[in-house]
Amino acid sequence: MDLYKNFPVLVIDNQLKTGNIEGMALRKIINSLINKGLAVIELEMDIFDHRLALSADSEISCILLGWNKVSAYRSMSQLGKLINQFRERNEALPIFLMTDKLDIKNIPIDTIKRINGYIWKTEDTPDFIAGRIENAVKKYLDGLLPPFFRALLKYTREYKYAWHTPGHMGGIAFLKSPAGRIFHSFFGENAFRADVSVSVPELGSLLDHSRAIHEAEVNAAQIFGADITYFVTNGTSTSNRTVLQATVKPGDIVLVDRNCHKSVMQAIIITGAIPIYLRSYRNNYGIIGPVLADELSAGSINKKIKDCPLLKGRPGQVKLTVITNSTYDGICYHVGMIKEKLQQNGTGLTENILFDEAWYAYARFNPIYTDRYATCCRQKDPAYKLIFATQSTHKLLAAFSQASMIHIMDQTGDFSRDRFNEAYMMNASTSPQYGIIASLDIAAQMMEGSFGRLMTQSAIEEANIFRKKMAQIGKDLNLYGKWWFKVWQPSAIGGQDYDQVDDYVLSTDPACWVLRPDDNWHGFEKIADNYAMLDPIKVTVLTPGLEESDQTAGRGLPAPIVTKFLNGRGIVTEKTGFYSFLILFSIGITNGKSGTLLAELFALKKVYDTNPPLGEVFPELAGLYPSGMTIRALCQEMHSFLNAIKYDKLFKSVYAYLPEQCLTPAGAYRELLAANVKPIKITELANKTAAVMVVPYPPGIPVIMPGEKFNPLLVKYLQFYEDFNKHFPGFENELHGVNINGGEYTTYCIAPPKPPL
Ligand SMILES: *Cc1c(COP(=O)(O)O)cnc(C)c1O
Repeated sequence: MDLYKNFPVLVIDNQLKTGNIEGMALRKIINSLINKGLAVIELEMDIFDHRLALSADSEISCILLGWNKVSAYRSMSQLGKLINQFRERNEALPIFLMTDKLDIKNIPIDTIKRINGYIWKTEDTPDFIAGRIENAVKKYLDGLLPPFFRALLKYTREYKYAWHTPGHMGGIAFLKSPAGRIFHSFFGENAFRADVSVSVPELGSLLDHSRAIHEAEVNAAQIFGADITYFVTNGTSTSNRTVLQATVKPGDIVLVDRNCHKSVMQAIIITGAIPIYLRSYRNNYGIIGPVLADELSAGSINKKIKDCPLLKGRPGQVKLTVITNSTYDGICYHVGMIKEKLQQNGTGLTENILFDEAWYAYARFNPIYTDRYATCCRQKDPAYKLIFATQSTHKLLAAFSQASMIHIMDQTGDFSRDRFNEAYMMNASTSPQYGIIASLDIAAQMMEGSFGRLMTQSAIEEANIFRKKMAQIGKDLNLYGKWWFKVWQPSAIGGQDYDQVDDYVLSTDPACWVLRPDDNWHGFEKIADNYAMLDPIKVTVLTPGLEESDQTAGRGLPAPIVTKFLNGRGIVTEKTGFYSFLILFSIGITNGKSGTLLAELFALKKVYDTNPPLGEVFPELAGLYPSGMTIRALCQEMHSFLNAIKYDKLFKSVYAYLPEQCLTPAGAYRELLAANVKPIKITELANKTAAVMVVPYPPGIPVIMPGEKFNPLLVKYLQFYEDFNKHFPGFENELHGVNINGGEYTTYCIAPPKPPL
């Protein structure tokens, strides 16, 4: 039972310390359990301890509960309630009642239904009782393991000699060099013994989805609500490419969210598809909203196809539509509404839909996301062939980096596994990491039953504690005319101030989070009602500078300075804009973690208000800025810089217009391969055709795609990044697709045809 040693049996009884017959019998049972190698935790009956027990239940392997007349729980109903609580949290955990035969008639039916059996402390022998308990524990713990991990565990325990790759042979090779030894001892022997190759037949093959791997994929499909699930060991980047390669031929039309991840764009290059883009809402903070609902109508899509210069008037059907759900900033869609909009008279305007749910694999497990994730619709919709969801299991569930899943919902029953698998294999390594596969298996299993709901619920509750606290602090400080950070969230719900809304309502009622057309907190104009919802666990904090009150007070605290400060204090945020930053509350959140963030925000406020010299706060910046410059002077300079270029309007408008398409992305890539491209300075980009995609960080969304023509607005936008980087050393933004040589920013454009000789 070695791996199981850490799963103690919990004994709750009020006779643990008594010397009477029952107390002595109980002591003997406990000693027998310990002799069998089981750990035991003893708890007197006491409400507080029970709470503790409840919160630690993932490490308990069995509960023995004393049910007797002299119980401190005089009321049986209270004891029954406790059993219900355990049961609600864990359906499989063995629970035994320790009672007396005479008492059994007093136990309510409702309780009897929820337990696994009785223990007659004074009648059977302690060894016999302990043996029964041990069996139940074994059965429970064995049942916890999902198919692939179970098989891997069994295999590594058999201590076979390996005559196959990987060449480290279960880790042994590392021990032959001092550096290798350190590596080995850091990761531990199991990491290497479980790193086996595809030559182990009993584990099955990822490439043809056989045996234990197949079982694990079937288990995950059932847990995530898909018809078919495939495990992917190289990220959702690969999952997206696989879905595109499995559905799209050269010249096919794909309709894509303009804010898609770059892997979608790369897949468009690889497949030779013709992209038609869907524009999104954007607000003054640069926060990306959902795709404009109007863009999904037949009229809009047909017009886009008709006007697309790459199609030259050729009519065509959309093969695949790609929607990012949720967006980076946590906007999730009403999936049914999207499916409804994308069809006309029962015929899909698109053959297939891909929901890129890289950030959203947890949605199925909490009712607050009802209707807002791809696998929510069990009802088949024959307007479409296939509906896909790709999820980065590693991003917001518990799995190793690169763990990803493709979920398929077959709408018409025509899906061919064999044909799909050709695209799958084309993107998969022939030597997948079995640790990643095992982590996919476990990540799915962890969400099974009530655990998924409990974990997501506590992430939502923790996020709301932080959100409410921020609102409260803001209100209190404003009373004294002082400033505080805002959070991008409703200021009031149902006429009640946000910080006054009941915790339970905030954490369970989606209506609190739905974006309404007549609300103005979100800043998206004319948004369709109920179409989009803000995911409470994705919290965007707004920094002072853009609100009217900030402008009259001349206050500006750009977010790059805030997150640099937080970073120096050990707090790493997910994404930083110019006046906003994003933090995530995932299932890995610990209670009260946000308290440290609050404390640091206070510390930063104090720094801003007391205005010390820059070098005291950021010693690494001291040499880069004029000596004697204060922190607020730096804030002011950055703020004025952003003001001068009308930051908010620029960011809003640059994504509002789609650049002209001159070449297909694949065509532009061919020019790059043929070296028929030239590096062009940013100031000279107007009217040139991009050969590569350019992605500024933040927000990490391509601003131009290969084959598109730079317009003056785009030039201004990229110029802004170059100027900003030069002005504010230590705060440089990355610009993918832009090369910096000797301080000069250039990007590859298609070279003009050579003039005839
Ligand atoms: C991160 C991300 C991906 C790629 O996922 P990886 O698992 O990192 O390869 C795809 N789409 C979106 C929207 C993402 O945010």
